[in-house]
Amino acid sequence: MLSNIIESARHPHEIRALYKLYTRYRSYKPDSRPLEELALVQRDLDFCYSTLGKVSRSFSVVIQQLPQDLRDAVCIFYLVLRALDSIEDDTSIEYEIRKGLLEQFHTFLNDPDWSIKGVGDKKDYRVLLNNFQKVTRSYSYLDESYKEVIKNIAREMGEGMILYLDKQIKTKEEYDEYCYYVAGLVGVGLTDLFVNSGLEPSLGSNDIYPVSMGLFLQKTNIIRDFREDLNENRTFWPEEIWSKYVNQIEELKHSKRASMECLNDMITDALSHAEDCLSYLSLIQNPLIFNFCAIPQVMAIATLDTLYDNSNVYSTNVKIRKGQAADLIFKSTDFEEVRDIFIDLANNIFSKVKLMDPSSDVITKNLKTILDHGRSTRTQMKVRVPDEVYSLTANQSNS
Ligand code: MG
Repeated sequence: MLSNIIESARHPHEIRALYKLYTRYRSYKPDSRPLEELALVQRDLDFCYSTLGKVSRSFSVVIQQLPQDLRDAVCIFYLVLRALDSIEDDTSIEYEIRKGLLEQFHTFLNDPDWSIKGVGDKKDYRVLLNNFQKVTRSYSYLDESYKEVIKNIAREMGEGMILYLDKQIKTKEEYDEYCYYVAGLVGVGLTDLFVNSGLEPSLGSNDIYPVSMGLFLQKTNIIRDFREDLNENRTFWPEEIWSKYVNQIEELKHSKRASMECLNDMITDALSHAEDCLSYLSLIQNPLIFNFCAIPQVMAIATLDTLYDNSNVYSTNVKIRKGQAADLIFKSTDFEEVRDIFIDLANNIFSKVKLMDPSSDVITKNLKTILDHGRSTRTQMKVRVPDEVYSLTANQSNS
């Protein structure tokens, strides 16, 4: 915690946000309802929430802010997907075994005894899979409509993961397809859960926005984790993009110019989803659901801003400052605020775009759609984006 404060020393508003983060966002407190049956249910749920905190600290914070019955469904949904991902990622397990597990995984949800030992490349993932019966029991208490969503998404995601289990991502189309299976489907499933809860009747009206929400987050992670993934002998960057700059992907670590151009190309591609994400967020009515959806999106665009034209991506784990993250979390309270954050960060990225960068035209276009989205939905709002930025953007896209 101290190091986070020191890191934000020159940004006092971030220190205030950090203080709020540490004092307000306490961890999950088990419900102590007296009924015996509920006590058993609660014991399994306690495992789910404590495991959630271990396998994803950031999602655990936002999930705990959701309305009660939706919160349990989303927590279990997250753990089911985390378990699937643990099977997908554990390359120490033979291909045929992983394939079989991914194929059947959705059926294990109806088996209150199913669990598996020794699968998962991190201790917390192995604990999750080794105690998976606690997750499936918790799943069995959920409303039927939630269960159906979770099971269908687990089936489709498992099938999609199998397609890419032993295949390199070559084309941009394959890249989008892979991201659809592992993340777009998360957006689709969450949207179905929100709609089924009765809290968000209008969210299901567009099929593309939920997918874009997932793709934007997934692509940001794939860009940020390039070095880490390559160290583990894998990459999710599509050959169609990196082969424009180098012959072998490993060369990116050695050629400064090619590596920056390739990185910026990847970020340009990710930013193409940002406008859909704003459109999705603008449809949300419940403030708790809004917060849950908006925070990861805001973190993603802030991360892309930090990654853009940043050669450290190839040598260290680049992350946004915890203080900046805390500040953004507390600002993301309603659509207008989030849209303004997107506009500020889009402007920031734009200020770093060099005309000679091969993707400068496309990124300018993508950033402009974010700024235009702000302009079209900006009514009597405070104007934070000076008009010269618009004219600059327009000039550059014409040049
Ligand atoms: Mg994975």
